[in-house]
Amino acid sequence: MGLTCLHSRMTVTAMKDLGFREYAARLAGSANAAVDEKQGNSNADANLHAMCGFGQPEYECRKAVAKIIADGKQESADAVAASDYKLALRRVGETLHTIQDMAFHKFEPWPFTGIGDAILNAPNYMFCHLIRDLGVVSVSKTIDVDVSWRVGQQVYVGVKGFYHPSNDYFAPIPPIGGQAPEIPGFGGMFTITIGAAPGSVRVPDPYPDSRGAVEGPYSSMMSSGREDLTRAEDATADFINNVRKDVQARPANGQVPPGADMWEAFVRY
Ligand SMILES: [Zn+2]
Repeated sequence: MGLTCLHSRMTVTAMKDLGFREYAARLAGSANAAVDEKQGNSNADANLHAMCGFGQPEYECRKAVAKIIADGKQESADAVAASDYKLALRRVGETLHTIQDMAFHKFEPWPFTGIGDAILNAPNYMFCHLIRDLGVVSVSKTIDVDVSWRVGQQVYVGVKGFYHPSNDYFAPIPPIGGQAPEIPGFGGMFTITIGAAPGSVRVPDPYPDSRGAVEGPYSSMMSSGREDLTRAEDATADFINNVRKDVQARPANGQVPPGADMWEAFVRY
């Protein structure tokens, strides 16, 4: 699923960064958001969100998703070459939905008939799915909540709030010969992260949780949001650039101008 507003915002931002006008960027953005109206558990619906349909084997799911993306690229480039810019923007937007979802969903099974069904039947899964799909939050098992924004290619700023049964951050210096008192506490801080996205570097946690698991699938899901969003943003720009290269490589003939001119005209639309 991914969050609809996030899909649309990511698409509009990437298109504008690559020189498209607001109007064109928004057409692609709304075509992208419209894909979220299809949330059934048929293979066709689930694959649009880079998830696997009910009982669909993962290899089949991966193949189908790859085909959605390859077809989307081809049809987008063909539409640009045919000067059908509205169709091109729609296909770019729709295909980007699957590409962006792939960064978040990683071919998970989706056995639900819709969002409501998923919340009723798997509330824990859906809660973690939602936290991750917000794309800015990472939650670790010690109840740190980290909300961060990407401000540069490899730079994130954020705020982090935490509750620790023993306060690691502000523990007082132990008295000589004594032991540091265990003081539980809430805290908060501003963070600047350079390099990897917040939440993407996980320190192995030696302490098992109440079920004996060291890190359950849900806790890693809850902490991967910011990292996933970064991959989705980068994949968005990559896809548009791939469509551009396809168009620009087309030679001129009697009827059509060279690909470079076609792309220029498309960007100015
Ligand atoms: Zn989706």
